[in-house]
Amino acid sequence: MRGRLGFAVACVIASAVLVSPRAGAQRTEATGQGQGGPSETVKALVERLELERYKAMIKGLTQFGDRRQGTDRNRKAVDWIEAQLKSYGCTNTERIKYDYQPPPPRDPNAPRPGGAGAQGSQPATAVGGGRPRGIRTKTGVNTDPNAQPDTKVRALDSQESTPGAREEVYCTKIGTSHPEEMYIIGGHMDGIGWGEAANDDGSGTALVMEVARVLSSPDVRTERSVRFVLWNNEETGLNGSRAYVEQRQGLQGKEDPAGSGRYPEPKWLGMITHDMMLFDHGMPRADGTMSKEQRPEADVNIEFQSNSKFAAEAQGLAWAFERANEKYATDYPASVGSHMTNTDSSSFMDAAPSLSLRENERGTQIGSGWDPQWHQPTDLYTTYSDADFRLGLNAAQTTLAAVAELAGARVQK
Ligand SMILES: [Zn+2]
Repeated sequence: MRGRLGFAVACVIASAVLVSPRAGAQRTEATGQGQGGPSETVKALVERLELERYKAMIKGLTQFGDRRQGTDRNRKAVDWIEAQLKSYGCTNTERIKYDYQPPPPRDPNAPRPGGAGAQGSQPATAVGGGRPRGIRTKTGVNTDPNAQPDTKVRALDSQESTPGAREEVYCTKIGTSHPEEMYIIGGHMDGIGWGEAANDDGSGTALVMEVARVLSSPDVRTERSVRFVLWNNEETGLNGSRAYVEQRQGLQGKEDPAGSGRYPEPKWLGMITHDMMLFDHGMPRADGTMSKEQRPEADVNIEFQSNSKFAAEAQGLAWAFERANEKYATDYPASVGSHMTNTDSSSFMDAAPSLSLRENERGTQIGSGWDPQWHQPTDLYTTYSDADFRLGLNAAQTTLAAVAELAGARVQK
């Protein structure tokens, strides 16, 4: 079924799958789900997102530097995030606890997978399965503290990471009529590179927190539950999201205590992660430099993985997000790709319909050097323009609108 025609046929099937009993467009007329025009309810919710609040949340996260896993600054950031969520009314915060032991150091002479990092030449297939094209520049992780000219940021990032106990925080908007089902919205709060991890992934973390703020407001009800998770240890290999799947998958949909109407782990209807939302300035130039300006055709990239067990459902979910973008996002369109990879939704893709939202496709674009701040000391709050932040805000509008429709959100008068 691969290829354009197969793809188009798959879309129709998938959207049929999406509108089947699992999501059920007919259930929540109030939110005008799916095919219909925009609903006043969802529009009103989306209008509660503001550019300055989104920027302020990213700024708030950068006070903890790059929030590297296994450091005090990371632990302080987890506590700060929890306090923010509680302040929005998302008070039932909980933590996933797991242990992290780093793998033995990699042989520096060993060839890198997919030839990543090599200047110029494009591998046949990018990570995630896409076919890269165009110019490629060097990518990698900065490990040199002196590459950070700002002495304050350098000092903030100086504590080394130590192996051992880890925690990540989440909270849940509990559904009124279907608390046994939920959508999971995530972003990773840890970073690397001796910067402020402002875009990777302060932008995704702030997006999740802003959506949590809007949906947790006392006048909002959702029929289905929505969980907000700020993953940890994404940069070391998705260890936080993997721990969540390992610990919680088997608990899905179980009422506990029996007869209580409480579902500590509602069934996973979909998992949507947000990773690097801000920078879409196009492909690098032949000399390796980047445009200072955002490209006019900047868009929000929605990706599912066509090789995953839930590919059909995930594709349907992706189109639902694209439709929500068309109806509710104020500035930027969205595009759908089938090579989701290298982020926390990958931990879920064979267990539930899973998506990632990003500034660009991960495999063929970010992996080809389209974001020069990626894992670099230049990933600072001050690096990004209002146009960059507005792209991130539009991803927040897209996710809030899609989840409001899918979860059956209502605003109490
Ligand atoms: Zn990231």
